[in-house]
Amino acid sequence: MHKQIKECKWISTCGFYQKYKDGRDPVLLGFIRQYCKGSCSDDCARKTYHHEHGHAPPDEMMPSGRFFRF
Ligand code: SF4
Repeated sequence: MHKQIKECKWISTCGFYQKYKDGRDPVLLGFIRQYCKGSCSDDCARKTYHHEHGHAPPDEMMPSGRFFRF
């Protein structure tokens, strides 16, 4: 059975997604495909950060937990 594809429930308010969804960087678009719009959203490090700190992480934190630098 295929893993169900589901969109992350935070997609409308997530700083990472809102900031980078229209970008062209292939790394970021890959994260968005796998996490924000894919089956990995439950594993997103931004959610763990939010849970542990009580507030959202910086927009530059990627779902992997690393920080994106231009
Ligand atoms: S970065 Fe994480 S919290 Fe934000 S929309 Fe994508 S999966 Fe959800």
